[in-house]
Amino acid sequence: MKYDVVVVGAGPAGSTAARYAALNGAKVLLIEEHASIGSPVGCTGLLSTRAVTECELKPSDEFVFNSVRGAAVYAPDGQCLPIDGRQTRAYVVSRKNFDRTLAVMAIEEGAELSLRTRAVELEKANPEISNGNSQVKLRVLRKGRPETISTSVVIGADGVKSRIASYAGLEKPARILPGIQIEAPYASDDSDFVELFPGSFAPGFFAWTVPVDEKVSRIGLALEPGLAWKKGQEENSSLAYLEKFLRSNSHVKARYSGSMLDFIVGGIPIGSQEKTVTDGVILAGDAAGQTKPTSGGGVYTGAFAAKIAGKVAAEAALEGDTSAKRLSEYDQVWRKSLGRELEIGMKIHDYMGKLEDRQLNDLISSLNTPSILNTITEYGDMDHPSILMRKLMFSGNSLRLMKAFGTFLRTLF
Ligand SMILES: Cc1cc2nc3c(=O)[nH]c(=O)nc-3n(C[C@H](O)[C@H](O)[C@H](O)COP(=O)(O)OP(=O)(O)OC[C@H]3O[C@@H](n4cnc5c(N)ncnc54)[C@H](O)[C@@H]3O)c2cc1C
Repeated sequence: MKYDVVVVGAGPAGSTAARYAALNGAKVLLIEEHASIGSPVGCTGLLSTRAVTECELKPSDEFVFNSVRGAAVYAPDGQCLPIDGRQTRAYVVSRKNFDRTLAVMAIEEGAELSLRTRAVELEKANPEISNGNSQVKLRVLRKGRPETISTSVVIGADGVKSRIASYAGLEKPARILPGIQIEAPYASDDSDFVELFPGSFAPGFFAWTVPVDEKVSRIGLALEPGLAWKKGQEENSSLAYLEKFLRSNSHVKARYSGSMLDFIVGGIPIGSQEKTVTDGVILAGDAAGQTKPTSGGGVYTGAFAAKIAGKVAAEAALEGDTSAKRLSEYDQVWRKSLGRELEIGMKIHDYMGKLEDRQLNDLISSLNTPSILNTITEYGDMDHPSILMRKLMFSGNSLRLMKAFGTFLRTLF
């Protein structure tokens, strides 16, 4: 079997990369180790309107459960910062159906999809010997049987634990936030709003409730391991943190029924590795650490980068030069668009994660003025937090906010 491009992993990044490679004239195979697309789910399924557009989809009943227009941010002391985006800002989706829709789009463009096909090894030809065209032999287990697939380029879109990164001698994302979530009956105050809980319930990141509808929400948290795991303390697992959040956060406790419909765990990679290409291999999506460090969302950024990956892989394969030098066009282009935002996001993540509860109380209370809330409504953007940061810094905001936050804001730009 010989392909121009083989994409490993049929998540949002993989299906999008496969579609773009096919659109650009390549013979494409998309392989997925599971027997079903989009399963098991490891995601809250909160997608910005931009994420859906980036995937070239219209919001549809096929995958959208709910629309949200804002967030209620709860400080550790219980005060609420109500951020009303005044229009739909995000969708709560069925990730299973969303991923299936993207896979169908890839197939419609001509990509072949092979389920129950796991990449288990990768062997590259030396590009110097074969005139820059690095033929890759991908060993797979298809329905349990070993096979070898020949291709010019492999796109590793195989998620946070990327085996393709290891097989190709590339690094994996170094920082991974453990995440945990249940879907459960939960009496939302307003199912147009998500609820966010930064602070010691989820050290280094935050806890959330995301309404599927007015009766059911996805309730979860992610943590920064360096801040969460401490010797001798009671909560030394994500589950222990989640249980404590459900039982002791008074707001959540009053609305949560105590039972659950679904339970997921997963890792959120933050901070991309230095290199996302090598001879004959490209990494995209979580495999390339392209997730936003401020929200943990990776569908928008992954799909954005995957389009570039698919296009560059196809062009390189058809030109007959799949050397690292040729494929580095992908690395340069995605970093040019997303790199700065992810860098600023990481600074925000690190700064916010280290704030103590009393500092968070102070910061959230200093943001809670009509004029600052207006600025947040106008410029808040879950995919591009730097826009709001810049605005907060340069629009002559309250002295109190600048005292709490000004020194940090100045380090961003
Ligand atoms: C708790 C939690 C909540 C999250 N919430 C959100 C959210 O609300 N919004 C958001 O945008 N993001 C969220 N994310 C992040 C989001 O889930 C990921 O960024 C996104 O799924 C990455 O897409 P991907 O295509 O790169 O990888 P994945 O979706 O992980 O897909 C990788 C695919 O590769 C397959 N695979 C792996 N290895 C192999 C192999 N060797 N051979 C063949 N196939 C293989 C896997 O089975 C999988 O289907 C969340 C993550 C977690 C953990």
